[in-house]
Amino acid sequence: GLSSLSQQRPVSMEAYWMPFSANRQYKAAPRLLVRAEGMYYHDVDDRPILDAAAGLWCCNAGHARPRIVQAIQQQAATLDFAPPFQMGSPLPFVLAQRLAALAPAPLNHVFFSNSGSEAVDTAMKIVLAYHRLRGQGQRTRFIGREKAYHGVGFGGLSIGGLPNNRKDAGPLLAGSDFLRHTLDLSRNAFSRGLPRHGAELAEDLERLIALHDASTIAAVFVEPIAGSGGVILPAPGYLQRLREICDQHGIVLVFDEVITGFGRVGNAFAAQRFGVTPDLMTLAKGLTNGAVPMGATLVSDAVHAAFMQGPPGAIELFHGYTYSGHPLACAAALATLDTYAEEHLFERAIELGDYWQSALHSLRGLPHVIDIRNFGLIGAVELAPRKDAPGARGYEVFERCFRDGSLLVRCTGDVIALSPPLIIDKAQIDRIVEILGDMINATG
Ligand code: PLP
Repeated sequence: GLSSLSQQRPVSMEAYWMPFSANRQYKAAPRLLVRAEGMYYHDVDDRPILDAAAGLWCCNAGHARPRIVQAIQQQAATLDFAPPFQMGSPLPFVLAQRLAALAPAPLNHVFFSNSGSEAVDTAMKIVLAYHRLRGQGQRTRFIGREKAYHGVGFGGLSIGGLPNNRKDAGPLLAGSDFLRHTLDLSRNAFSRGLPRHGAELAEDLERLIALHDASTIAAVFVEPIAGSGGVILPAPGYLQRLREICDQHGIVLVFDEVITGFGRVGNAFAAQRFGVTPDLMTLAKGLTNGAVPMGATLVSDAVHAAFMQGPPGAIELFHGYTYSGHPLACAAALATLDTYAEEHLFERAIELGDYWQSALHSLRGLPHVIDIRNFGLIGAVELAPRKDAPGARGYEVFERCFRDGSLLVRCTGDVIALSPPLIIDKAQIDRIVEILGDMINATG
């Protein structure tokens, strides 16, 4: 049956085209996870694998949490699906209220989707429609940032700043432009917590406004902390300054909190930790603890109100997904929020922050380590790239960690990114750092 299929090596690996993967390399030496509980995966040989990545920045409460498992099982047996257009079921309403209560004050409206990519594309559409409704339909230009990752929809790619993702995607949305990224090893290497230098990079938005004129700019999208681009932190004051400039010029500010949301930095959202409130916020991943796909776009009262002026029988936004507010996803999300609250998990990243920071920075001085970054329960160890082979060293450390260290980390280029479940304890932090150190030492 299915359960035994899910525990065994597949007979053939040919048909499955794996996402963001070196398919041939992987299939020659597969890494197969078959089950998970708490802080650990188990691979197909039943080897426990310590999860230092929360899957992929998703499983903030750890794996197979009983409340979440039960909620999904019960919901599947009760209401498997309900059409979301001109119809409803209770849970998306309940979940939207819960999210609004958790988010900064004006973000009281929630549009559901199935992924971070869709949450971003939804945010972009809402912003364009918002400006049009206010008679400012000439505001069509989006400002992203170098090294940003906003998923793989054509919208998110248009504001994303990772060249490998963009290069095959054609001309993308016309007119997008990019803030400079905020990674600066020359001034900030081995900073503990936020980097000291770089708040002035927010003034780069003034440069783009001077170039394009504010009246053409719809929105600025930023990840408060960039994940896929290599764990890039903002200097204190940087996000505040972006907020000020956007306010001055009638530009909408969107935070993509797909990885920073749900306790990763010690509050529900990075917006709260940094004290900067965006007009829209995009969420996914930790929203359901990774257990069922779901994305959400949070929208401020002011933006939402612009849509609610027409006749009540008019559809306000011609946008949505068959699976918007899917009952299984909503059930998983509600049980996830209960788990976060019951176990006070949003406080863990602050309680453990100093310990995490010291542990990570103990890796300073190991071969090829050119920077260590941390904030909340996020960490990054940046390795010098090998000559003519960028990313090879990072991949090798990742691969060794899994194979020889029974440790799951993530590599993005030559950056080893760490984002453990928030249920992690100090002994497990020590273990992650010990294994990672050994594997860096073992890698030439
Ligand atoms: N935005 C950010 C900041 C992300 O980190 C990601 C995924 O890593 C996405 C969007 C895309 O999310 P998804 O892969 O669910 O489409």
